Amino acid sequence: MADRVTPAAFFGHGTPMNAIEANRYSAAWSEFGASVAAPRAVLMLSAHWFTRGIGVTAMEAPRTIHDFGGFPPALYAVQYPAPGDPGLAKDIAERLDDLPVRLDDDWGLDHGTWSVLVHVFADAGVPVVQLSIDGTKPAAWHWDVGRRLAPLRHEGVMIIGSGNITHNFAELDPGASTPAQWAVDFDELMWKAVQAGDRETIVGYESLPSGRRAAPTADHFLPLVYVAAVRRDDEPVSSIVEGMDLGSFSMRSFRVG
Ligand code: ZN
Repeated sequence: MADRVTPAAFFGHGTPMNAIEANRYSAAWSEFGASVAAPRAVLMLSAHWFTRGIGVTAMEAPRTIHDFGGFPPALYAVQYPAPGDPGLAKDIAERLDDLPVRLDDDWGLDHGTWSVLVHVFADAGVPVVQLSIDGTKPAAWHWDVGRRLAPLRHEGVMIIGSGNITHNFAELDPGASTPAQWAVDFDELMWKAVQAGDRETIVGYESLPSGRRAAPTADHFLPLVYVAAVRRDDEPVSSIVEGMDLGSFSMRSFRVG
């Protein structure tokens, strides 16, 4: 166990409808789940738990949060009854004991988490802990937190980030016949940076061409920073699925290790 490193993964989650739609994204997420040994637990960084300070879910049975509006009843009916892991939550808080981490008994699993995990681990048998993303901190700080969490991968914990490399509602275009070039370019630039372990490019994303257009808010980008940060230099990175949804939302998902 000690020398086995659990893979980490980033998922471009896109619309919550991916939770209940059979499409090439959800199919690829399922294939990823089938390709890995079930981890001891999932540590999830979701774009949809963006806070001041850091929370870590510490309840035995996290609720399924339907944190969106205007979707069909079938989406509100989804439940993802994965257990929590209060011991892991406490362990994480201790590893980050110089930071304002609070053990949370209020949040649960938001749709950034369950819209993906309903496909990856469909039986909801793997315990899930969510760590919130402190929206007051810069990307370099998140990278450093990610590095400190990386040793958990030697203890059977699968670290997952769920966001989107490009995510701009003002650019949303459901009828787009071809993806927006700026989004394609930014996505490819970031994919190269992840493969190269190029920390400077990743944490400096706001200064890149179209960086602010790709991530007008940091919430959907920062989960990627954690996954890139937990990679060891010699580890492979491989694509799970890629594509551009709604004109400019990168669905790129990948695994580390
Ligand atoms: Zn989202």
